[in-house]
Amino acid sequence: MCKIIYYHGLYSSFPELSFSDPAFTRQDFARQVELLSRRYELITLNEALERSNEKNGLKQTLCVTTDDGLADNLVFAEILDRCNGKLTLFLNNNFIDNQDMMWRNKIRYVEHHTDSYRQNRLIGQLAETYQLWVPKSSLSLLNWSRTWPMALKDHLADRLWEEAGLGTVREFLERRKLYLNWTEIKELTRQGHAIGGHTRSHPDCSLLSWEELKAETVDAVGELRQRSGEPVHFLAYPFGIRPRSAWDRRLRAENSGLKRTMGIAPSLQSPTLEEREDMEKSFWKSMVYLYLMPVKRALF
Ligand SMILES: [Zn+2]
Repeated sequence: MCKIIYYHGLYSSFPELSFSDPAFTRQDFARQVELLSRRYELITLNEALERSNEKNGLKQTLCVTTDDGLADNLVFAEILDRCNGKLTLFLNNNFIDNQDMMWRNKIRYVEHHTDSYRQNRLIGQLAETYQLWVPKSSLSLLNWSRTWPMALKDHLADRLWEEAGLGTVREFLERRKLYLNWTEIKELTRQGHAIGGHTRSHPDCSLLSWEELKAETVDAVGELRQRSGEPVHFLAYPFGIRPRSAWDRRLRAENSGLKRTMGIAPSLQSPTLEEREDMEKSFWKSMVYLYLMPVKRALF
């Protein structure tokens, strides 16, 4: 049975963008991988798919995956290579080559550079202008943004960035090179790492119309395949949130190369290669998840 785990970034050089506190570090990842490589064969999802028809083909296998296409993927790949492991990278078309910055990355950065008084004022200001839901008690910008209509998410994140007076996003990305570029992605796939789709702009897919969903998934995966020359068999839904099940099936039917769509379930066992578990935790916490949680889940 294959286990599938996921990460985002290391944030050692960008602590202000980390979604977890304390930020996940290079050492956390290196220690996890070193231990996992003694017990599991660390293969790509494409290889897992090939082996899934063989009897016991997935025995003692584990797939390490990363989301959002951050430049930190180069470090993940390097650490995995040292342990004979391979990575599967889930990419968002819009951020490759640092063309734009993901809305949640923008919001996290704004949060880091504004105090809570200013954040509450920004919430009030934008809520009034765009007729948005206003929280009754204090809420972080990132949590509030989960209530936004998806069609406005990029525009609203840009407005927050402007209001916070952080210069332009383009300048920031030119300076910080937050995401991978195509040259780096092609080098990673040449080394045997695999890629998958993570939508074009990272929406909550359960809130999209069919046309929007198709553009974010079927079309985005097709473009990734064309640009990379690699198979793109997997799509990981942002936040692990699936659209309604009829649409989930329909988009796979519309793209014959797309074999699996992935959610998030705390099971660590994924016989159908459709669920992943978050392992972006400190080393000791991750060990609890890897070794004690399966026992607890089996008992209760
Ligand atoms: Zn993501």
